Amino acid sequence: MVKIGISMHTVEKLVRIDNTMKTPWFNYPSFNWHKKKAIVIGGGVAGCQSAWHLLQTGWQVTVIERHKKLAMEASGNLAGAIMPKMTAVPSLGEDFYSESFNYTLTQLAQLKSAEKQVQHELCGVLQLAHSPREEKRWNALQQRNFPDDFLQSLDVEKTEQCSGISSPYKSTYFPQGGWISPASFCQALIDHSNCEVLLHSEALQLTQDQQQWQVIDAYHQILAEAEVVIIANGKDLNQFEQTKDLPVMPVRGQTSQACTTSASDKLQTIIGHEGYLTPAVNGLHIFGATFERNNNQAVMNPQADAINQQQLHKYLPDFYNSLGEIKSSHVAIRMTTPDRFPYAGGVIDQAHYQRDYADIHQGKHWKKYPIGQYLQGLFVLAGLGSRGLTTGGYCASHLVNIINGNPLESKILNALHAGRFMIRRLKTNTLQGM
Ligand SMILES: Cc1cc2nc3c(=O)[nH]c(=O)nc-3n(C[C@H](O)[C@H](O)[C@H](O)COP(=O)(O)OP(=O)(O)OC[C@H]3O[C@@H](n4cnc5c(N)ncnc54)[C@H](O)[C@@H]3O)c2cc1C
Repeated sequence: MVKIGISMHTVEKLVRIDNTMKTPWFNYPSFNWHKKKAIVIGGGVAGCQSAWHLLQTGWQVTVIERHKKLAMEASGNLAGAIMPKMTAVPSLGEDFYSESFNYTLTQLAQLKSAEKQVQHELCGVLQLAHSPREEKRWNALQQRNFPDDFLQSLDVEKTEQCSGISSPYKSTYFPQGGWISPASFCQALIDHSNCEVLLHSEALQLTQDQQQWQVIDAYHQILAEAEVVIIANGKDLNQFEQTKDLPVMPVRGQTSQACTTSASDKLQTIIGHEGYLTPAVNGLHIFGATFERNNNQAVMNPQADAINQQQLHKYLPDFYNSLGEIKSSHVAIRMTTPDRFPYAGGVIDQAHYQRDYADIHQGKHWKKYPIGQYLQGLFVLAGLGSRGLTTGGYCASHLVNIINGNPLESKILNALHAGRFMIRRLKTNTLQGM
């Protein structure tokens, strides 16, 4: 089991799933794989994290990617931020993001000690208190006395000292945060002798024969065959018959980039406002990104750069005026889910769920329900939204624990379950007619 980065505090809270628990629909059976051989569809952060966690636990992995390189879509940004997402009061979301953040830091240290090259810099992240809502959050977080190496509440002067540039706002500082190049991250994760990567290979269909999944391409050829398949195909999650009903929401995001100048080069940290801004990465500052909901057209748009520039000018006018030439950087679709938690788990057998849990809206607490039925050997890691660089590893660790028969009971595991929206509809008896 890959348990890196999960704090001792959390490990102590976690217990092996007991099938008699009250949420049998979120439980998993023990699997008995004949061979530790798996296919991962998608060569972005979700797919490469899935591959890494499988490889660490002795699996042979084939990654299928339709482009000529890994990390060409949502994971194709030049640099993204690694940081937690805090809420004013403790919440499941906050736990998820902080556990994910710690997990990724530990994983990066592990990759470094294995001499894998990941272009990144843990230069610290400052989240500006740039609006009344952010001020409120700043005040609430200040009261909560976090350890200094995790979070500090800085006044305006300290924010300026820490960032190296002038700022009109105070900030919340995450000293261990920073930026990462997702493409180099992906490459490092799959760099293993037991990992095969099929580029220029597009999966169009999944069929199953005698416990083996076949991944079929446009020419009706079998691209790969294995007992276990993880679907990690980002914005196209609904393309397969088996995952077509999973609720998703596309959010288009475009970043811009600006050449550094001697003045802008003084920026030492990532800065978050409505979007984010990096210090110099290969002579460029990356900033943005736009959030265009229900837009799944990943096409570069000059208007999006104008929005990114207006935002940066609004919050950091001096810094904005110090920048060199600005142009578009990257555009992609962040695939997210209605409750913003990713999907990490088994693909449910919908017919079984509808039949086995048809009466759970009646609240029969005494009734013993069977545990969840899944499409044998089919798993998903998707819906990473706008934080997948930070959360992908933690989600993949949960997923691979499930596959290896060690699912850890936790509220987070249930929150990531791919059947949760169906269960909500069954509980509210609103499945019919949808
Ligand atoms: C503009 C922008 C800025 C962001 N900034 C940050 C940030 O600062 N911090 C952060 O943590 N996160 C950030 N994110 C989010 C993060 O990048 C995503 O959550 C993450 O990259 C999603 O990874 P993924 O593997 O699910 O999707 P993708 O990277 O899109 O990977 C899916 C892969 O599957 C392949 N594929 C799809 N269908 C098939 C098929 N049928 N056959 C073969 N291959 C297929 C695709 O080609 C693609 O390579 C940002 C996202 C965007 C768009």
